[in-house]
Amino acid sequence: MTLAVEHYDCLVIGAGPGGYTAAIRAAQLGMKTACAEAFRDPAGKPVLGGTCLNVGCIPSKALLDSSHHFHHIAHEAKAHGITVEGLRLDLATMLARKDQVVRTLTQGIAGLFKKHGITWFQGSGRLRDGGQVEISPWEGGAPLTVSASHIIIATGSVPAALPGVPIDNDRICDSTGALAFTEVPARLGIIGAGIIGVELGSVWRRLGSEVVLLEALETWLPSADTDIARAAAKELKRQGLQIRLGCEVQGVERQGQEMHVAYRVGETIEWLVVDRLVVAVGRRPNTEGLGVEAAGVKLDARGFIEVDGQCRTTAEGIYAIGDVVAGPMLAHKASEEGVAVTERIAGQSPAVDHGLIPWVIYTWPEIAWVGPSEQALQLEGRAYRGGRFPLQASGRARAMGETAGLVKVLADAKTDRILGVHIFAPQASELIAEAVLAMAFDASAEDLARTVHAHPTLAEAIHEAALAVDGRPINL
Ligand code: FAD
Ligand code: AMP
Repeated sequence: MTLAVEHYDCLVIGAGPGGYTAAIRAAQLGMKTACAEAFRDPAGKPVLGGTCLNVGCIPSKALLDSSHHFHHIAHEAKAHGITVEGLRLDLATMLARKDQVVRTLTQGIAGLFKKHGITWFQGSGRLRDGGQVEISPWEGGAPLTVSASHIIIATGSVPAALPGVPIDNDRICDSTGALAFTEVPARLGIIGAGIIGVELGSVWRRLGSEVVLLEALETWLPSADTDIARAAAKELKRQGLQIRLGCEVQGVERQGQEMHVAYRVGETIEWLVVDRLVVAVGRRPNTEGLGVEAAGVKLDARGFIEVDGQCRTTAEGIYAIGDVVAGPMLAHKASEEGVAVTERIAGQSPAVDHGLIPWVIYTWPEIAWVGPSEQALQLEGRAYRGGRFPLQASGRARAMGETAGLVKVLADAKTDRILGVHIFAPQASELIAEAVLAMAFDASAEDLARTVHAHPTLAEAIHEAALAVDGRPINL
């Protein structure tokens, strides 16, 4: 039997950064709002926050920070005159801290839902026609039918599978498993050297694993600026991360506790023997069991929900945002779409500028960029001027003992408008915000060059790179 419940102005399916943000904004705009979320924590308890908070951005950053401290104390502290004896890794505490960070934040979302009067349906939503969604509660029992004037699909993405490498959640896992190893693997293999692969590889390398990343492409991070990717590759190699390019994994054989990974290099098949294997070959949109056909919601050829420039699907009154639609699979892209879509429903005219979405890779130093790379501008045949500044010449980077990075500013040759900013530096994730803001206001490289930057800071490297666009850096 299906129980009928009340009508909502806005029903969101999925409570990741896209969905929970959309729900909060909808409630702020005065809509009667509900959100269905099926995610459960390892103890089986329903939780909000989606991939990002539970098994993505947040736990990975918690482990990246903890492992950075460990590595820094073990390898870098000595140069600062700090000697630590008896350094020991307490992985159980590190993992428990990560879990606590996650718990605090997911409970925070539950608190925000309560504060905004958002109804949380703890179960899985399935679209029906006529603006209805059937929700199967997580504890079982009869499904509920909810109707809504506006439905926002924010069901996110799930790890892509690799044929021949089945996840067994023991020796072979996806990113979720790799955030919860209870011991440091001696030999760790990672398939895919994209963002998730290198971040997870960094965590375990810093904690002592021998890490090999097998990457099918011949170029590492093709969408990053080539100079930045090259500098980062050199530094990661120095840290002991082995990134093997042009290696396409074909399959895996388990021999006792060992994983024998077969990969093709040109015409030959080679083998890598590891203790644990992580599959990090990308993510795919999550529309399983969502009932898209019944509701008239079309998918594109790659399985993403088809939307127009305003996140409207092919079905009247149904919208889709975040990882389940095309575009960068990033939390801030999802949440900005969530805000924009609800504001449009409320009659406002917001716009998300997809050309200004910052990318960040949380290696150490971090990689961050906004706008096209130099090679992309060349391919486009765009006339530009570039300025670069190495951290070797930065006073603050010297003081920190972190001189491996660089900053590059690319500006239109004629108008001087900033087209792209590319950073490889500690805290690049924070530094990039200045570039995004400058570009959002159509700033020129000269505007950046004329902006006072505090001294000594890493941000001065952006200032100097902007000066270098006009050939007048001061400290180089
Ligand atoms: P999700 O966060 O995937 O949330 C979708 C939610 O919908 C899930 O909770 C799911 O349970 C729920 N759901 C699905 N189907 C249904 C249904 N039928 N009924 C009810 N609920 C349903 N991005 C960054 O920007 N920065 C980072 O540092 C970063 N690090 C990452 C690290 C890792 C290891 C991973 C895996 C991802 C990382 N990402 C990062 C990507 C980021 O997590 C995603 O881009 C983001 O979570 C997408 O948000 P979303 O709201 O679209 O979907
Ligand atoms: P991302 O798209 O950032 O999530 O990264 C996933 C990476 O996995 C990409 O760089 C892909 O080229 C890589 N990849 C996909 N399939 C394979 C494979 N069979 N063997 C090795 N690498 C792969």
